[in-house]
Amino acid sequence: MPIRVVSFDMEGTLVDHSYSKTIWEGDIPALYAEAHGLPLEEARKKVFAEYADVGEGRPEWYDMGYWWRRLGLPHYWRNLPQRRKDECRVYPDAQPALNRLGKKYPLIVSSNTIREFLQIQLGCIEYPFSRVFSAPTDFNAVKKAPDFYQRVCDILEIKPEELAHVGDHEEFDYRAPKKLGVKAYHLDRIGQLKGEDVVHDLNEFASRLL
Ligand SMILES: [Mg+2]
Repeated sequence: MPIRVVSFDMEGTLVDHSYSKTIWEGDIPALYAEAHGLPLEEARKKVFAEYADVGEGRPEWYDMGYWWRRLGLPHYWRNLPQRRKDECRVYPDAQPALNRLGKKYPLIVSSNTIREFLQIQLGCIEYPFSRVFSAPTDFNAVKKAPDFYQRVCDILEIKPEELAHVGDHEEFDYRAPKKLGVKAYHLDRIGQLKGEDVVHDLNEFASRLL
């Protein structure tokens, strides 16, 4: 069955992790230290232990408002994503691959990142994606379950077999969509993995579909 839509993960795939990392691992522990009068190192340990307690498999993990309440943080958080936009780094292979694939397919983003972060990241990429799906914001879900990709396909009115997806997370971007029948590719930027569904950069991914 021919591919009709091509989907990309965001972090680790189109942009690197520095934007999110700065916020989750830098700003939030610093605000926590300030709020609770703790030394920064101690605050970091406490916040990281709280992150580990929730884990990336639950939608709250990605939810800034949830963490603000749980950690008792000061100030309103909604200006934080905007304030860190200079930390956003697009991988050099992203733009050429999007331009190549965009000539043939509608391109979408399917991400576990909350919409407030996605909007900033999309501003760095400058590509007119047809749709942008945030699993936690749009579906209160994590894309670890095939269900997420089914919902995306339903909205796009295509069959899973007509969707191609690429991303760097083995479970979320490869196993989950593959189980549903999506033509999924695992992006391994380090270049350690081998296999017919493994690609090492986005130009290789584009070449597989063109
Ligand atoms: Mg990713």
